[in-house]
Amino acid sequence: MNTVIGKLERVRSRIEAACVAAGRPVSGVTLLAVSKTQPDAAVRDAFAAGQRAFGENYVQEALDKIAATADLRSQIEWHLIGPLQSNKTRPVAAAFDWVQSVDRLKIAQRLSEQRPPELPPLQVCLQVNISAEASKSGLMPAEVLAVALAVAALPRLTLRGLMAIPEPNGDFEAQRAPHRELRELMGGLNDRGLELDTLSMGMSADLEAAVAEGATIVRVGTAVFGGRGLPA
Ligand SMILES: *Cc1c(COP(=O)(O)O)cnc(C)c1O
Repeated sequence: MNTVIGKLERVRSRIEAACVAAGRPVSGVTLLAVSKTQPDAAVRDAFAAGQRAFGENYVQEALDKIAATADLRSQIEWHLIGPLQSNKTRPVAAAFDWVQSVDRLKIAQRLSEQRPPELPPLQVCLQVNISAEASKSGLMPAEVLAVALAVAALPRLTLRGLMAIPEPNGDFEAQRAPHRELRELMGGLNDRGLELDTLSMGMSADLEAAVAEGATIVRVGTAVFGGRGLPA
């Protein structure tokens, strides 16, 4: 308990300092606590310390954790940030508030069709392969506009913005480059008539660089919860 509180406070201080350095209001950056591979108790500890937005990577693990913390459900915002196969969209559309890892139109269409009518629209981001690595998931930057226009037209989704997981890099200026590219990509989409407000970028090792380039959500796992074992 104390360790999560202390770590959360340190991460909040890092975000605050990065906002001050960038001349941005602290309220403009949401901390998403990435609880993948962590037990339900870790979510409860972070919740008790005031954390409300949580991110998960693995669908089945997430569904189990959301069920195990059902008593907190109305106060928590759950984000899927990991790969989503089309045969898993139905439970995801019912259980999550956000899906940040939409990487093809077909997934978005299924999520829109399957979003239960009694729930508000599912909030989504398109995942972009901003470092253009063949091995990583995400849309290539050149594909994003066409997919974004199609996703924005789906009735049961709200397209909020872009998400990326850039290549790790130890150097601050080098870390900024892909985050800047993602910001510029979103600016181009908004120039074409979209109204996107979310840049999900920055993790434990590079959140300062991401905030400097305009991140509105930083996704932080190890710096909040400590190390992870192998995926469940
Ligand atoms: C695991 C993960 C994170 C958090 O990474 P840390 O380095 O532990 O902060 C953020 N985003 C995604 C998509 C992840 O899979």
